[in-house]
Amino acid sequence: VIAGSANSVTEPTPPLAGPNVMNVIIVAAECAPWSKTGGLGDVAGALPKALARRGHRVMVVAPRYGSYPDAWETGVRKRYNVAGQDNEVSYFHGYIDGVDHVFVDTPSFHGVSNNIYGGNREDVLKRMVLFCKAAVEVPWHVPCGGVCYGDGNLIFVANDWHTALLPVYLQAYYRDNGLMEFARSILVIHNIAHQGRGPLSDFSLMGLPEHYIEKFRLYDPVGGEHLNIFMAGLITAHRIVAVSHGYAWECQTQLGGWGLDGVVREHNWKLRGIVNGIDDKEWSPELDVHLNTDGYSNYSLNNLEYGKALCKAAFQKELGLPVRSDVPLLGFIGRLDNQKGVDIIADAMPWMMEQDLQLVMLGTGRADLENMLRSFESQHRDKVRAWVGFSVKTAHRITAGCDILLMPSRFEPCGLNQLYAMRYGTIPVVHAVGGLRDTVKAFDPYSNTGTGWTFDKADGTGLIHALGTAMWTFRDFKDSWKGIQERGMTQDLSWDQAAKQYEEVMVAAKYQW
Ligand code: ADP
Repeated sequence: VIAGSANSVTEPTPPLAGPNVMNVIIVAAECAPWSKTGGLGDVAGALPKALARRGHRVMVVAPRYGSYPDAWETGVRKRYNVAGQDNEVSYFHGYIDGVDHVFVDTPSFHGVSNNIYGGNREDVLKRMVLFCKAAVEVPWHVPCGGVCYGDGNLIFVANDWHTALLPVYLQAYYRDNGLMEFARSILVIHNIAHQGRGPLSDFSLMGLPEHYIEKFRLYDPVGGEHLNIFMAGLITAHRIVAVSHGYAWECQTQLGGWGLDGVVREHNWKLRGIVNGIDDKEWSPELDVHLNTDGYSNYSLNNLEYGKALCKAAFQKELGLPVRSDVPLLGFIGRLDNQKGVDIIADAMPWMMEQDLQLVMLGTGRADLENMLRSFESQHRDKVRAWVGFSVKTAHRITAGCDILLMPSRFEPCGLNQLYAMRYGTIPVVHAVGGLRDTVKAFDPYSNTGTGWTFDKADGTGLIHALGTAMWTFRDFKDSWKGIQERGMTQDLSWDQAAKQYEEVMVAAKYQW
């Protein structure tokens, strides 16, 4: 691998040279576009490519939930035991966008692609145990371009509780036995609210030496004494990354750490916050493939007003809403759960429905919240559209067609939709928390700075106040509005920036014993 062969759109700082060129294996339970339930899938899809552009040899390992046309069977088959059951695993490989993609195939992964983390707790746990056991062996068994990665200058990057066992297996199976001494692991916290909690008896499923149980044993007032997979990963990994600075801090607080705040605090010497980038190929108004049909239009900063107006009109038409350029069109995209604050929008709804605005909401999740979305639409057919489902195309069209994106999340580790929105000249109105606080700077009319509106208290009043000012600016202060759009669109939100910071963490891990 030649360091310096970066072919990124905006030239990042020079890639590391010589001995710091690494073999990187990113391991995740989902990887876009093959599998995705949220931001983790996007990160696993984009970070590897950005690291490869910086000159590293990069692989991403994900489960093979379906048949993926761009990866082929390698013929490598292995057997792993989980809870006394023998499982055959085969490895598929595709070299895509400069990255080795390895998909781990086994019968229990099939048929869960629509519900990766669904099903009974023990089944999900067994799938993740099997996946991590299979993934830690990849550098030895799976030839990529004819050569296995091996353990020289190797960094594993694990993600969330699903793959938090990977650092543990690396340590227990190899490093404790004097093997893979040049391999290191990083664990990325995308969402610490999900931890792989269970009874201590789950430990027997994991196939680890008895003394390892102490790394999993956690007591907290909510769960009592229990087994916690995320904790074992946090303790064992050489470095920890959280997906924004704000979130790195919040994970250490009682409110944001979900019982693991003490563990994160104790290990904060190896913790760093890195804001996710956005995949420029997938999310840019210039290239967006969902904008080149049905009256939509690709656009850039140069023809922002014209191009965005076309997208807005096309979207209003598609939704069956009055086609009007003067009415602010508001969007919401997200999982429907407590985190994303749909109920905060519900609180603000009576006020919102008195305003001249249009609102489109896309989401899937909790049945009661899905019904709430449907009832918003049925009660306000002249103003509201609810799209209950997962639709990548609609997400893109909301991002391009709307004037304002609402993100009233109660907590938000990084958040991607606000980044996409800013890239498309759509102005985010967000609760100032976690990654939202890091990435959306409040508009200040005096200094003419800022990229959106923020509110401090996660309730309807906070949202109404921020949204009211945003809509007032949209209507009456067109120059200010344009300035906010331009600042948002010209920020460097690329993965190249984030990849450089990941690289610094990789180097730090490498020199850590
Ligand atoms: P999280 O990972 O917490 O779900 P993020 O903002 O980090 O939230 O990432 C969410 C990603 O999932 C974004 O790319 C967003 O566009 C996408 N997404 C969420 N819900 C939907 C949906 N119903 N249809 C299409 N895309 C969605």
